[in-house]
Amino acid sequence: MDQPTSLVWLRNDLRLSDNPALLTACADGGRVIALYIHETDEDVRAPGGAARWWLNQSLESLGQALGKKGILLIVRAGMAAEVLDKVITEEGAQSVHWNRRYAPGEREVDQQIKSDLRERGLSVASHIGNMLAEPWTIATGQGKPYSVFSPFWKTLRDCRIEQPLAAPRKLGEAVTAKSYDTEYRAPKWSEKFEGQWTIGEAAAQKVLHNFLDERLEDYPEGRDFPGRDVTSRLSPHLRFGEITARQVWYATQARMEAEPEVRPYADKFFSELAWRDFSYHQLYHRKDIARVPMQEKYGSMRWSASEKAEVAWQKGQTGIPIVDAGMRELWQTGYMHNRVRMLVASLLTKNLLVDWRHGERWFWDCLVDGDVANNPASWQWVAGCGLDAAPYFRIFNPVTQGERFDAAGNYVRKWVPELKGLPDKWVHEPAGAPADILRKAGVTIGETYPEPIVDLKTSRQRALERQGEL
Ligand code: FAD
Repeated sequence: MDQPTSLVWLRNDLRLSDNPALLTACADGGRVIALYIHETDEDVRAPGGAARWWLNQSLESLGQALGKKGILLIVRAGMAAEVLDKVITEEGAQSVHWNRRYAPGEREVDQQIKSDLRERGLSVASHIGNMLAEPWTIATGQGKPYSVFSPFWKTLRDCRIEQPLAAPRKLGEAVTAKSYDTEYRAPKWSEKFEGQWTIGEAAAQKVLHNFLDERLEDYPEGRDFPGRDVTSRLSPHLRFGEITARQVWYATQARMEAEPEVRPYADKFFSELAWRDFSYHQLYHRKDIARVPMQEKYGSMRWSASEKAEVAWQKGQTGIPIVDAGMRELWQTGYMHNRVRMLVASLLTKNLLVDWRHGERWFWDCLVDGDVANNPASWQWVAGCGLDAAPYFRIFNPVTQGERFDAAGNYVRKWVPELKGLPDKWVHEPAGAPADILRKAGVTIGETYPEPIVDLKTSRQRALERQGEL
């Protein structure tokens, strides 16, 4: 092979634009090969079932886009170091580029590979990943990681956020060959997501611009109402790096410059986007956030393992309508609205006293946006053991939350159709409805819709007592 060859190892960065590893490899001037590895390393968390469904299609779309630029995408499975070795030899690569990832186990794998390859004389370069700022660049006045969001956000806001990069130019003749040794097997149940999502970089850009054009102004006020389609729905695209947080940031800035009156709306959106960086800050600085509570005292929390309750929660059969609606939305679409994520997580960890790690794992498997930082950090936040978590005595009441954020019951009726006929007044608390109203609506509690799995008042008291023991 006479031309120098650079290998780009893609991970959570399935895009062409604003991809520093890809752009630098292309600037090296030789041949460029892209590689994606379905990693089997124990220290790297394998995507859940729904995310695997997304990933396969995202790779398909990326393979085509790279092919048009004259870059072949190779997809393999195995231990990262072994697969890289093999592909480097097969392709005669002299340099390797990647964008960073941040979980402790992932970093260990990457550091080992970097030092092994360098020892063998290869050039290896890592680049900023899909963050607004690298997690170690944001620190308190004492040089420590932040544990509270507001000062973290204030510091991040004042940072210089790098401008997104352009996509690489075309390197050569289009490549149409597909070089996939393997595809990640997505579970059969994920087939129902087909047709519900548009996947890939071009789709992500479209989703962003639709949101900015049509929904940004409604965002601060409307984002808490699950029955309104107001949030951006960028999460799975960000999860796989089909779009970067920087691209979202700069596109929103551009909108603000064109129309200064949207600034207050954009500010709220920026701060939500910054929660993602805050989760990664925690992932980077803490130990194994999917398993270890960030507040140490929670190590001795007495959880009550009730498999029956957990299964009812998973299936959306708790008898608490907004919770059941959320769990069914998750199962049907691979997504759940943020407010409802908080409510279902609170019911599981507080009223049912099920260990937050069980809920985290269910979400991990079912979410198309199941994210290595956002998911565990958010679960810990709701359970009370996370950073900047709500005080333990603040336990959501899913009935009053439903009445407040889904007052007309549209969200519940969509996902729990057996309650469709109930008037708004009872749709969030069918078990309390008078018998004639239930009869008219065709609802029989305990038959067509379950009894509430738990008494919200007494279980709240029990949760307070348990947490008070810590
Ligand atoms: P928008 O409101 O449009 O926000 C834009 C982007 O900002 C999101 O895509 C996301 O990247 C980021 N963001 C917004 N809110 C948050 C937040 N509270 N924390 C961190 N980042 C945020 N988000 C995931 O991306 N993956 C997960 O696995 C995940 N698991 C969660 C589990 C629980 C129990 C809870 C309470 C929240 C979880 N979230 C997770 C955060 C949040 O619910 C989703 O990011 C959001 O609902 C995605 O919808 P959107 O893209 O329309 O959000």
